[in-house]
Amino acid sequence: MSVAEEAWSVADREAMALALAEAGEAAAAGEVPVGAVLVSAAGEVLGRGRNRREARQDITAHAELEALRQASANVGSWRLDGCRLFVTLEPCHMCAAACRQARVAEIVFATRDPKTGALFSVDQLYERPPHFHDPLIREGLEQEAARQQLRDFFASLRRRNRRLAGRGFSRGALRDARVSGVLGRNADVDVDDGTDIGTDIGTDDGTDIG
Ligand SMILES: [Zn+2]
Repeated sequence: MSVAEEAWSVADREAMALALAEAGEAAAAGEVPVGAVLVSAAGEVLGRGRNRREARQDITAHAELEALRQASANVGSWRLDGCRLFVTLEPCHMCAAACRQARVAEIVFATRDPKTGALFSVDQLYERPPHFHDPLIREGLEQEAARQQLRDFFASLRRRNRRLAGRGFSRGALRDARVSGVLGRNADVDVDDGTDIGTDIGTDDGTDIG
């Protein structure tokens, strides 16, 4: 593993811009905004993905895995040697392990995830064996833009939940309504948790965002 500090190339910035756009699409659909793009060694975009966990009710519907799946379908192989993954949020264990198994050469992520980030935040997965294909890691490209997307998303959830609470919905009722599909799946995010998204991206209700 290595973390380089060299300046970002134009191609890097373009790839992360695509990942941010994917994350924006996720937010528009009511999903925690995470987007990913997989680029070949030659610079071709092979796969794109965004978080669709709620829409698909699928815990593996993470942005990174979507991008890997699409890329593998495009090249006809699970081996993605030399490819680079651009993702707006530090990957979780599942995605970090998948990238290593797919032989992704490098992961560039925008901002750390203090709740589930497996590269630096809650674990340093690639510090541990097997060390067959550890991707390089770089971070910080478009960090502020990615953080702002997450802040905006959780702020809007809290506003909505405060409005609902003001109309007499208890948290239990919110959860029941969420489960029954009357409200959006994210409707039970804590309304009074006081979480400062600026310092701790994530929520206190178990809505992990990797
Ligand atoms: Zn993940």
